[in-house]
Amino acid sequence: MKFAEVILPVPIPKSFCYVIPSQLDLEVLVGHRVLVEFGNRKMYTGIVSEIHETEPEKYIPKPILEVLEVEPSVNASQIKLWQWVADYYMCSIGEVLNVALPSGLKLSSQSYIQIHPHFIIEENLEQLSDREFTLMSYLEKEQTIPYTQVGEILEIKSPYKTIKNLIEKEAILLIEKIKERYKPKMEKRIRLSQQYADQPDSLDDLFKLLSKRQKQEDALLKYLSLVPIHEDYLTNFHGVAKREFLHVGRPLSPSSVGTMTKNGIFEEFERQIPRFELSVADKMQPTPVLSPAQKECLQKTIQGLSEKNVCLLHGITGSGKTEIYLQLIKSVIENGEQALFLIPEIALSSQLVKRLKVYFGDVLGIYHSKFSDNERVETWKGVQEGQFQVIVGTRSSLFLPFSDLSLIIVDEEHDSSYKANDPAPRYQGRDLALVLAHMHHAKVVLGSATPSLESFYLAVKNKYAYAGLHERFGDAQLPEIKIIDVKAKRKQKKMKDDFSDDLLHILHQNTEQGYQSILFQNRRGYSPYVTCDVCNWVPTCPSCNVKLTYHIYRNEIRCHYCGHKEHVPHTCVSCGSTEMKTVGLGTQKVEEELKTYLPEVRVGRLDLDTTRRKHSYDQILTDFEQGHIDILVGTQMITKGLDFDNVRVVGIINADTMLYFPDFRAHERAFQMLTQVSGRAGRRGETGTVILQTQQPSETLFAKVARNDYHNFYRKEIKDREQYHYPPFTRLIKLTIRSEKQDLTHDAANYLGRLLVNWLGQKRILGPQEPGINKIRNYYLSEILIKLEREGIDLKKAKGLIQKAIYQQKEEKPFKRVWVSIDVDPQ
Ligand code: ADP
Ligand code: ZN
Ligand code: ZN
Repeated sequence: MKFAEVILPVPIPKSFCYVIPSQLDLEVLVGHRVLVEFGNRKMYTGIVSEIHETEPEKYIPKPILEVLEVEPSVNASQIKLWQWVADYYMCSIGEVLNVALPSGLKLSSQSYIQIHPHFIIEENLEQLSDREFTLMSYLEKEQTIPYTQVGEILEIKSPYKTIKNLIEKEAILLIEKIKERYKPKMEKRIRLSQQYADQPDSLDDLFKLLSKRQKQEDALLKYLSLVPIHEDYLTNFHGVAKREFLHVGRPLSPSSVGTMTKNGIFEEFERQIPRFELSVADKMQPTPVLSPAQKECLQKTIQGLSEKNVCLLHGITGSGKTEIYLQLIKSVIENGEQALFLIPEIALSSQLVKRLKVYFGDVLGIYHSKFSDNERVETWKGVQEGQFQVIVGTRSSLFLPFSDLSLIIVDEEHDSSYKANDPAPRYQGRDLALVLAHMHHAKVVLGSATPSLESFYLAVKNKYAYAGLHERFGDAQLPEIKIIDVKAKRKQKKMKDDFSDDLLHILHQNTEQGYQSILFQNRRGYSPYVTCDVCNWVPTCPSCNVKLTYHIYRNEIRCHYCGHKEHVPHTCVSCGSTEMKTVGLGTQKVEEELKTYLPEVRVGRLDLDTTRRKHSYDQILTDFEQGHIDILVGTQMITKGLDFDNVRVVGIINADTMLYFPDFRAHERAFQMLTQVSGRAGRRGETGTVILQTQQPSETLFAKVARNDYHNFYRKEIKDREQYHYPPFTRLIKLTIRSEKQDLTHDAANYLGRLLVNWLGQKRILGPQEPGINKIRNYYLSEILIKLEREGIDLKKAKGLIQKAIYQQKEEKPFKRVWVSIDVDPQ
């Protein structure tokens, strides 16, 4: 007998064994989606991870009920990656499956009911109520019906009770089945046969041959006008749509095209209609020629990758790292292999994606979580079937079914959006890229103007190759950064609200000259808080232990953790005073002040509040690009990747806020963010200016940003990390303990902490400690930080002990309603 291990989307850290019955329609293969019964009469769709002949000892396995597809959706190396993620990030492989598979292929996406195989109607008829009977008769006819239709059939609103009763009587089964939502749209296309496409000479011969057959010559001319084959082979490879070819402009006779196809001049093929079509203007952009510095950097990267598996590409903002990536990817395509281009967030990369699409055309697939189910399944299939050789996408594209991956590019590798937070697996995309590459024997390029400390450290240690690009493309220089002492300015009465005279002056001047500016303030909302002027009371969220943020347009205060909102109180809850005022500074207020002091200027705002709708981000950026906005105010969203020729001035309203996060990465983040936002200025032509406003002009970090002195920033920071035992010198694992009662959280955390101290040693355990925000969505939190050495420790064993401690705690009766989540390499 044969058995299959099946991965199910449940948080139990194992796979489950099922018998493969002999009467199935399809042979069961690794990677197949299959339907199985799990637990108490519940059906799931799972992925087959292994086929073997050993019968489990402890239980009698149930049979696989159905194979849901002909070709497996998942390949063996993907399952290997899932397992790695589950082991390293300490979660179940089912949880990995849950994020790895697009929901269009996903398990348990719709409930159906069907008659239980063991149910014999005659014997049980008397037990059924009228409603139940109607449903059963219907099921006899239809076999399975969607759960959602039951109400319609029975003409009742809530069919739940009927279904529940029938399940209890073992008359029906509730099953979960994937909805087959995915149907690609196809189109017929025509292209020149290989023998003519490859050699211009043979094309000349062909013209001579056809000159006597005027209609065929016409067809060939028309084809060539639609496809500029001289540009590169990719364009001909994808041909033209047959519909377009026959009907656009002067119509061609289908019969002459048919004859030419028969004679082997053209070939017809089918292709899925792509989702992403470019405008003609986009397509007309010239292919870039690398500058000498870029060429040298490209050579260094190639050389580096021949010696090491990973190369850190450290190129200042505006140096043109993208052009180097393009060249690297191009050679991958020419070798017939696959490349993955990872970006931190899709919304912030629309300019980049367009550039890639112009360059790579139809072999480029796009993948990210904001795509619809259909779009994601399409990309998945496109990778599987070899249509897409290049994928640009966010971290979830690491889970695509690559078969022949040879290069991964991680753009802006320092960006914290590469880290997945809740739910598990809490993986770090950049790190997982290295693992995926290793499995495929592929190379990795990590690119950034401000590399993460971890990556730079490994480059210094010679574990990674290093390629630097220290000049901007074209004649552009890095901007001049001026540090403005806000306290001194206030004394001199040279501040208007939050703007220094220098900042207002340069913004005004820049706009007058027809240039644009960017203003960065790392807080959205109007004024962060409302407070009582008499007793300093501040309204907080009822479910979270956080102050509510004031939003002016609706005159509301909102919780940024759970979304709770309420009207601004007129009187103080604590002392009854009516002297409520707002304090602090958010992007809305910056926008308003700007409108007061520079009334003639057109201001736009880019933050989470203005970009909630699907295309609003693109809209705001398009407005900016087309010059309808003079000054763009924004949160960290505007620090990333934006590439606008016309931006000369960047203003940082308050650089201090970033320094004081209670986090060992605070300085690193601040350096990265300030450097990146400064990098938006003066990317073309004249040198830009950055005005950095601070209360602490002598802070050395700002001086380093101003000098673009990454190396000194690195030296100081890495020393601190070594001294205080933080990454990259140690590995951190953070446990978050949660329950609805503060005491319970406290006790459970202490219990767990004691076990860990006993098993791993006092010096490896920090806490338990309540985090700064100790209550979110009505759950009280406590944290334990585990610090493990990088070397000389059995990591697997240590993780095993942590896992064991958590199980042991969970088994203690009082802690039944306590949850612990594990975050390996937290950020
Ligand atoms: P980075 O990502 O390093 O900050 P980009 O790759 O966005 O820089 O390049 C900055 C700008 O310079 C872009 O507008 C890009 O199109 C342009 N650019 C860079 N290299 C070239 C090149 N070789 N030819 C033409 N334009 C280039
Ligand atoms: Zn008060
Ligand atoms: Zn809240």
